[in-house]
Amino acid sequence: MSQTDSRTTPFDTLLVANRGEIACRVMRTARAMGLRTVAVYSDADANARHVREADEAVRLGPAAARESYLKVEAVVEAAKRTGAGAIHPGYGFLSENGAFVEALDAAGITFVGPPASAIAAMGDKSAAKARMANAGVPLVPGYHGDDQDDALLRREADNIGYPVLLKASAGGGGKGMRVVESGENFQAALDGCRRESQAAFGDTRMLIEKYLTQPRHVEVQVFCDSHGNGVYLFERDCSVQRRHQKVLEEAPAPGMTAELRREMGDAAVRAAKEIGYVGAGTVEFLLDFSQGQDGSFYFMEMNTRLQVEHPVTEMITGQDLVEWQLRVAMGEPLPLQQDELTITGHSFEARLYAEDPEQDFLPATGTLTRFAMDLKGAGLDPRQVRLDSGVETGDVVSMHYDPMLAKLIVHGDDRDQALATLNRALAALDVQGVVTNRAFLQRLATHPAFKACELDTRFIEKNEATLFAPKQYGIEEYAGAALIGLNQLARECESDSPWDRHDGFRLNAPHTIRISLCDPAHVQDDETSENVVIVEGTRASGADPWDLTIGGETLTARLQHLEGDAVAVTLNGHRRRLQARRDGNVVVMVDPRGETRLFWRRIDAIDHGHHEAESTLTAPMHGTVVALLVEAGQKVEKGMPLMVMEAMKMEHTMTAPADGHVESFHFNAGDTVGQGDVLLEFAPAE
Ligand code: ADP
Repeated sequence: MSQTDSRTTPFDTLLVANRGEIACRVMRTARAMGLRTVAVYSDADANARHVREADEAVRLGPAAARESYLKVEAVVEAAKRTGAGAIHPGYGFLSENGAFVEALDAAGITFVGPPASAIAAMGDKSAAKARMANAGVPLVPGYHGDDQDDALLRREADNIGYPVLLKASAGGGGKGMRVVESGENFQAALDGCRRESQAAFGDTRMLIEKYLTQPRHVEVQVFCDSHGNGVYLFERDCSVQRRHQKVLEEAPAPGMTAELRREMGDAAVRAAKEIGYVGAGTVEFLLDFSQGQDGSFYFMEMNTRLQVEHPVTEMITGQDLVEWQLRVAMGEPLPLQQDELTITGHSFEARLYAEDPEQDFLPATGTLTRFAMDLKGAGLDPRQVRLDSGVETGDVVSMHYDPMLAKLIVHGDDRDQALATLNRALAALDVQGVVTNRAFLQRLATHPAFKACELDTRFIEKNEATLFAPKQYGIEEYAGAALIGLNQLARECESDSPWDRHDGFRLNAPHTIRISLCDPAHVQDDETSENVVIVEGTRASGADPWDLTIGGETLTARLQHLEGDAVAVTLNGHRRRLQARRDGNVVVMVDPRGETRLFWRRIDAIDHGHHEAESTLTAPMHGTVVALLVEAGQKVEKGMPLMVMEAMKMEHTMTAPADGHVESFHFNAGDTVGQGDVLLEFAPAE
């Protein structure tokens, strides 16, 4: 080891105080550096991937994070028990907890991160803004004072001018943050933010900023050592966000000039030095391109930890940031100086979440019956694709933690090439058993506006119409799905004894089967609906192709199973390769252009169940009732908010399914509800 700092003690064992993909990722580098690795786990994670991959693992406590991953004493105790000389906190959990760092200092354990004083300086958004103003780092106009009187905050907001953004001073992860469009909505937004901030951070202080309408989120990766050196490892553009949470990130930021890069980089290093920073940090800026703005940038916050999206920086710089962190923690100087750092090519990261984009991104749980990516089958170069994941096939996704399952990171010579690789890789990612945002990521990454770099933090909102548009499928998609459905039916029939069948489906005679296909959103529609397509398939025997009749057209169609889920669908001699998966009666077909999901059924087996107007509202997931917003008996219009639930640290609003009134609520504010519990009885108006 080269020069070491007198304050640091060398260590040979690293404890990673985290879970999921980041724990696995940190341990990977630690192992490569010859360190012994220790994982910690809650009861829900006793057999999780990070535990399986560690040399040793210590139980912290029950599933709830505050009784396990957030328990300072338990983590310190685990380090002592295993002789871990250092702790890497990952992101989230204890990573920006000053009290934790102090506890480690007291116990003589090295914290892989900045000193407690630097965390304190940035931990509070309001205090950080005051400090940055002193260091000459540009700020968004706003109010970040201590006086938290409701009327005063309202006056400040009025002065700043709407729209404004309310932010929890103690906030992070987009929680406790709301845009307020006008004065009338201010109080309600303030109350909501305070509730969320209280629940997530135990603190209700707010700050107000001018809400920039077309900003890009561009952040700078900085690194400082304990010898007074500081560098920036360029920027990441994280403008594609949903509810202020990043979804797709890239590096470098498109359209960046060398001059702006240097200016922002220097400002970021200045910010870090101002607070005596050591280790990896990220200085987040808003880059404003709205009317009359030519790219002014404003400090937003500094995250005093490794970021989720650090891999895109690793891809373009060829550096391992976790290795840098560990070397700095060992007291070594930074591995490279500013003029030794360069950018090569372009990189994207897509965050795979267990959530349902079709149901307002509701977090999803379940068992991953398959989690795989066939790089070879998709013709991808393993040097250009990286999957940082905390799960494997067979793992259970619970409701206890953040729903992010994995990150897909790609590299290319330039942005277009990297984007093409991203789309190919997203198509090759096969996740089954748990609903994910995979297809949504593909819709984002194939979106023409994204390709054209029309980036700003409201990208998803602005392109909602095209990102969520009901899918218009062509004859190729219907024929492909029909083929898969028909083959499945034929297989089922053939595996039964032909003597027992009463449906006219006999061997050695041409088989004709009629099936209907529709978007899964229209499963209730019957075959006369314009949303439903009828396909008739005929073939003489299992060895022959199908003749498919769709809307008067007849196609010769053949299905061939390749390796894994890959199939080849040949329609009138045109062969297409795709991934085909079955989810009950839904056929899912994926290729680099996108995902097709079609529900099919055999027509003579339709059960014409009728559909009643909804008279109950059930809890979409396990959570807590936060507030009842109307009285029982009070007349409401369709879509009006009825009650607020909190689940997975986010608020969800239940709205009226129709005009009518609530007959009764089954729960009160503060009650815990289980998934599927009836929340209220609703009486639609006559
Ligand atoms: P958190 O710490 O909760 O992630 P940030 O302060 O980092 O909150 O803000 C998260 C995101 O919210 C930013 O990336 C940006 O998209 C948006 N945002 C924050 N401040 C503003 C602002 N003043 N105007 C417009 N958008 C903003």
